[in-house]
Amino acid sequence: MLLTLREDADPAALERALRGLGLWTRRLTDGRQGAIAVVPPSPEVPAARLRDLPGVAAVLESGSPHPKVDAQPRPTWLEAGPTFIAGPCGVESEEGVHLAAEMAARAGATVLRGGAFKPRTSPYAFSGHGRPALRWMRAAADAHGMRMVTEVMSEAEAEAVAEVADVLQVGSRNMQSFALLHAIGRTGRPALLKRGMAATLEEWILAGEHLLHAGAASIVFCERGVRGFDPATRNLLDLGAVAVLKHALGMPVVVDPSHAVGRRDLVAPLAAAAIAAGADGVIVEAHPDAAHALSDGPQALDAEGLALVAARIGVAA
Ligand code: PEP
Ligand code: MN
Repeated sequence: MLLTLREDADPAALERALRGLGLWTRRLTDGRQGAIAVVPPSPEVPAARLRDLPGVAAVLESGSPHPKVDAQPRPTWLEAGPTFIAGPCGVESEEGVHLAAEMAARAGATVLRGGAFKPRTSPYAFSGHGRPALRWMRAAADAHGMRMVTEVMSEAEAEAVAEVADVLQVGSRNMQSFALLHAIGRTGRPALLKRGMAATLEEWILAGEHLLHAGAASIVFCERGVRGFDPATRNLLDLGAVAVLKHALGMPVVVDPSHAVGRRDLVAPLAAAAIAAGADGVIVEAHPDAAHALSDGPQALDAEGLALVAARIGVAA
């Protein structure tokens, strides 16, 4: 919202009054006239209430293209401190996902990750065990009192995943698969929205708007690195986008340092950097036997690696 000021207005006094209502403000100059913008993460206050404040000439409503994302409260599944999400890249076996959940829980993670449906570059690569893996994963999460997040790859599976998962993940490759976003939204479940590999911040936020518009309970953004020019790391972790989402826009965001960097030895420092930049949590890959992982072995953490991440982000093991 933008407040334009009367000529006789006292902008400093008006700003104090707005802050007294819990609003965040930014002073602007609108040609000859002064103006004050009400910026996120301000709570919603009816425009009529602001129009009555001394010195206000007019209240212009923002007409944001993503009003539902702007207005959503903090998703309830996020912890008060950093949320630690960990687990295998893909759910490879019933026993394997139990071992991974045990490792993750022991390190202090409260949410288990893992793919039952895996998007793979090659059609010959392991692409997940599908529906049975959902059941194995649910049991493993329950055994350790964890929530679970898993990717939905197709509209046809959205309901089946929603029946067992606490949070439905949209993968990078599907960030703008609009029919899939709508199907996930229609389940009414919380969603974790990974950033497309070459998506702008605005495209990413609008994908979130699609989910909420279709009925998702909440969305959390997940920065996982964008396509860079340098093969030294798997992707280019965009911590600037994390800071913009959190500090300028007041939106919930977690970071996936595993897919960003692609090497297990660099996951902990990037996890620490993510929290410093404002992330609400991190999502990392871990495997009980990384040397034999069927996908993303080079970035999979062992128990020691998980404990190091927990220490660096300030989560008690
Ligand atoms: C994943 O988290 O399992 C995954 C496939 O990541 P991304 O969509 O970010 O590549
Ligand atoms: Mn992976």
